Amino acid sequence: MTRVVYVNGRYLPYGHAAVHVEDRGFQLADAVYEVCEVKGGALVDETRHLARLERSLGELKIRPPMTRRALAHVMRETVRRNRVRDGLLYLQVTRGAAPRDFAFPAADVEPTLVCLARSLNVAKRDARAEAGIAVITRPDIRWGRSDIKTVMLLPACLAKDEARSAGAEEAWLVDRDGFVTEGASSNAWIVDADGHLVTRQTGSAILAGVTRATVMDVLHTEGISFSERPFRVAEALKAREAFITSASGTVMPVVKIDGHSIGDGTPGKLTRLLRSRFHQIAEISRF
Ligand code: PMP
Repeated sequence: MTRVVYVNGRYLPYGHAAVHVEDRGFQLADAVYEVCEVKGGALVDETRHLARLERSLGELKIRPPMTRRALAHVMRETVRRNRVRDGLLYLQVTRGAAPRDFAFPAADVEPTLVCLARSLNVAKRDARAEAGIAVITRPDIRWGRSDIKTVMLLPACLAKDEARSAGAEEAWLVDRDGFVTEGASSNAWIVDADGHLVTRQTGSAILAGVTRATVMDVLHTEGISFSERPFRVAEALKAREAFITSASGTVMPVVKIDGHSIGDGTPGKLTRLLRSRFHQIAEISRF
């Protein structure tokens, strides 16, 4: 449980941490965020997460709330004060609080920065990875800039809720041409019928996942080739293996898509290898 939350320069008790009612993050989803894994008290892939945050801010012309160095300090302090060993760090930056108006406020409006850290039940997550998860497919009804990590997450929330109702854990979103874009909160991968690893190329249709990039580092280290191309649901159903990547689950095997078993219905060999090698290759920032 988070006990201390960083809000605009102060570490506040969880129950008292708040932003203004006219914060543009609250009223307009005019905000970006990052979720970073905490493992053994260290941040995983911090550099990539901070680089992506800077990119998201730049694309939306939101002023960075502080330097990268200062931000890294806030992240560490939030992890430390909450005594998180294994869990997640959540960082959100909004364009700030100003009287509601679609147009951007004056340049001197201070961005809002919130940082939380909470522990995760690692045993539970590992048990899910052992069994593999089910996903369903849903139309991708998001906007045209899914490469920016904004808090405008309602389409993802709806898809995830439908997944839960269907007894699945994730929804794979499908574009108008029938190709899988990504998961509601993860990147999607398959090992195709020929044994080749495939994930969609980056671009405006998907988020360039940090875990996705680090998995590619693992693949380079292992000398395993892969293709970045779109794949259809029909191809995924015939895949030998499938998995999703995200900071919160690293490499999570997918054993069912829309009720159809993938491969032999258990986590695939390559998927398990990537999961086991992930933290040996990822950047681990101890402090
Ligand atoms: N795609 C979407 C839409 C996501 O929300 C996430 C997780 N935030 C990802 C992909 C995975 O990104 P990462 O590996 O950086 O967590």
